[in-house]
Amino acid sequence: MGILFRNVRLVDPASGTDRITDLSVREGLVDDIGTELAQEGFEVIDGTGKILAPGLIDMHVHLREPGFEHKETILTGMRAAAAGGFTRIAAMPNTSPALDTPETLERVRDRASAGMVHVHPIGALSFGLEGREPTDLDALKNAGACAFSDDGMPVPDSAMMYRAMEWAHRLDRIVVDHCEDHSLSRGGVMNRGANSEKLGLPGIPKAAEDIMTARDILLAREYNLPVHICHVSTRTSVELIRQAKADGVRVTGEAAPHHFSLTDDALLNGNTNARVSPPLREEEDREAVLAGLADGTLDIIATDHAPHTAEEKNRPLDQAPNGMVGLETAVGLVFTRLIQTGVMGLLEAIGAMTWKPAQIFGLPGGRIAKGESADLVLIDPELIWKVDPTEFHSKGSNSPFIGMTLKGRPIMTVIGGRKAMENNNVFF
Ligand SMILES: [Zn+2]
Repeated sequence: MGILFRNVRLVDPASGTDRITDLSVREGLVDDIGTELAQEGFEVIDGTGKILAPGLIDMHVHLREPGFEHKETILTGMRAAAAGGFTRIAAMPNTSPALDTPETLERVRDRASAGMVHVHPIGALSFGLEGREPTDLDALKNAGACAFSDDGMPVPDSAMMYRAMEWAHRLDRIVVDHCEDHSLSRGGVMNRGANSEKLGLPGIPKAAEDIMTARDILLAREYNLPVHICHVSTRTSVELIRQAKADGVRVTGEAAPHHFSLTDDALLNGNTNARVSPPLREEEDREAVLAGLADGTLDIIATDHAPHTAEEKNRPLDQAPNGMVGLETAVGLVFTRLIQTGVMGLLEAIGAMTWKPAQIFGLPGGRIAKGESADLVLIDPELIWKVDPTEFHSKGSNSPFIGMTLKGRPIMTVIGGRKAMENNNVFF
């Protein structure tokens, strides 16, 4: 049986569509879009007051498998994604073993075929993410790599970074960089500033991020190659990317919900769930990330979903690992912190989670069109809910947003015409 969304607010950034209509799904495809569609043979969903958007795309997810299945598995990560409204995600390669050979990528894709979410592995740039020996990007591309990155780790060697950018570009792929100069950040627990001073913890200077952002931009300019900057967290990095874009440099940027929602004040009570890399910064940085999203300097929103066990996070701040879960709170934060505040329009915000990542990474999906695969998310923009980790499908409950009240939540995810999630029940 097909699905008929009646009187729904259809939001499709790719075509600039924002209007009330009916939309039907049949045999995996968007069957028809229009008013008063016939309902025989369809399950009718009353879409009044709801938003129907392309299935969300998250290009920055740590699925933890292979090697860290106690934190997350590919299947639990996919379930968290479906619960969060995501139909397509990219899996970062910092697993164990790392995704640095065709075999490991193929294994990820094979495991992912047990669920419904489209999973695209990102191939490692260097073996073991050690920044020394380059991987075979041709082989990784042929095994399904949608991009290349050593995320979690920076690429310290500039020549290696440039060669990777060039090689990836020849393969019609991009390099995604985690910008961090370890010589400055090593041993740091949180942003270097008044709060790290107050807590007496080693700080991570903003310069550690900005130096690498600048380095990547300079390489992109020198060699006229594209580069994508992950999880931008500082005011200066936003400004560097803005200026580079104005100069015609082929750089794109990404913002994570935690960096536009929180500052390092979140660590003052010792909450290890707020420890993340790059760290939560200061208010001027948070505002700069918001401004970067507002004017398109930061092209996409990605969660950097990074689950850890309660045991690992239940340590003092200086011993807890970096990272927080994000798939199941992203929509709530985007609606509450970006859309309802007027920082971004609905089309722009949804675009940063659908059409723009699809374009930058050359992926299918990210839009709604008759005859195309029905990957959709139904969002209730008025639903007020409290972040409760017992409701998470992720194995991780390491969220700094626990207990926070958000407005806006995905209530149905459709993948290939089939329901993957409804009211937080996941069907795979
Ligand atoms: Zn990273």
